[in-house]
Amino acid sequence: MALLFRRPKGTEDVLPDRVGYWQFLEGKVREVASRFGYGEVRTPTFEEAELFARSVGEDTDIVSKEMYTFEDRGGRLMALKPEGTASVLRAYLEHGLHKGGGLTKLYYISPIFRYEKPQAGRYRQSHQFGAEAIGSGEPSLDVEVIDLALSIYRELGLSEVSLLLNSIGCPKCRPSYRQELLKFARAHREELCGDCRRRMETNPLRLLDCKVEGCGRIMAQAPVISQYLCDECREHFEEVKGGLRSLGIPYREESKLVRGLDYYTRTVFEVVHGGLGAQNAICGGGRYDGLVEELGGPPTPALGFAGGVERTLLAMEAEGKLPELDERVEVFVAYLDDPGREALPKVLSELRRAGLRADGSYTGRSLKSQLRQADRMGARYTVIIGGEELAKGMAIVRDMELSEQREVPLDGTPKVLREKLG
Ligand SMILES: [Zn+2]
Ligand SMILES: [Zn+2]
Repeated sequence: MALLFRRPKGTEDVLPDRVGYWQFLEGKVREVASRFGYGEVRTPTFEEAELFARSVGEDTDIVSKEMYTFEDRGGRLMALKPEGTASVLRAYLEHGLHKGGGLTKLYYISPIFRYEKPQAGRYRQSHQFGAEAIGSGEPSLDVEVIDLALSIYRELGLSEVSLLLNSIGCPKCRPSYRQELLKFARAHREELCGDCRRRMETNPLRLLDCKVEGCGRIMAQAPVISQYLCDECREHFEEVKGGLRSLGIPYREESKLVRGLDYYTRTVFEVVHGGLGAQNAICGGGRYDGLVEELGGPPTPALGFAGGVERTLLAMEAEGKLPELDERVEVFVAYLDDPGREALPKVLSELRRAGLRADGSYTGRSLKSQLRQADRMGARYTVIIGGEELAKGMAIVRDMELSEQREVPLDGTPKVLREKLG
């Protein structure tokens, strides 16, 4: 059969044989986030494109090359959301969550869209879970957010994760670093890629996470930000590290870690996984103290993180931590003859109403092939119905493991099977 349609490049269908892994992961995210006091927020799949240009940054790859934008019928420029934070903050401001003046803690699980070259674990529609803690600049909040991210990975059974940590300073101290970096970049201008040459004047920090190999080699020699942090940023960073140590959370300082988004200030971090090769980040986050204001709100310090669902599942697979999925039916209903076939929908319905996972054959096959199907579906019991038994108000219950069967009153079968299945 020639296919008329295929899924768009860079997208995936998650079929029932794997969707249980997704549900397991999403369940853990919800469970752990709620334990930490974060409430779930669901924002639209698309927003005004300007929201992302403002927040993520005009000259990031995400906005300049990878965003799915479209003009709607009203002539407005919209974008499928390329990340989660901007939408969460837009909602935070739109619904006045800032008016309480306290801390607002939100999490989300959401598809995101980026026009990327498809590769392992990277898709044009991918999925992220993330959290945002809005309303405090305290280093202890950085520690909580990092602890939340790592707790999710721990609950998913992952052990080969490492935390990379850096501080990228604030609007007070970053300009002097930026100046030094620019000086360095200008001196190596000819060796840098076109993107870097174009970006160095507007945002030289961006050069530090250029994916071009040659740029990486050169930037490895560049000055590091830790030498330029102001006293407040240095102290903040020390307190974050101290907090992590007191929780027994190991970290590695990574002086070149800047993250690909413009809005970060001070703490930035990444969680990487040992089983994923070169593209090993499964989670990234940081503080974005200026972003709420940038989006039209009051000055509000905040931070958050986002983890990739697909990449986390790859990491779980690499560690052999994908859960056992039990898709088996508990009870299969087979019929012997026409009266049995006519009674099938009602018998099935009653078993299901009694809370049992029950299924039957609708394909008009022989009893033998129905029993084979019951086996294939992993049924522990099969209820067999036929005209003769129905006339007596009885059904045959077959234990598929022991290959034993006996007659039981038909209206009592749901109860009998519930007891047998515990
Ligand atoms: Zn600073
Ligand atoms: Zn480059």
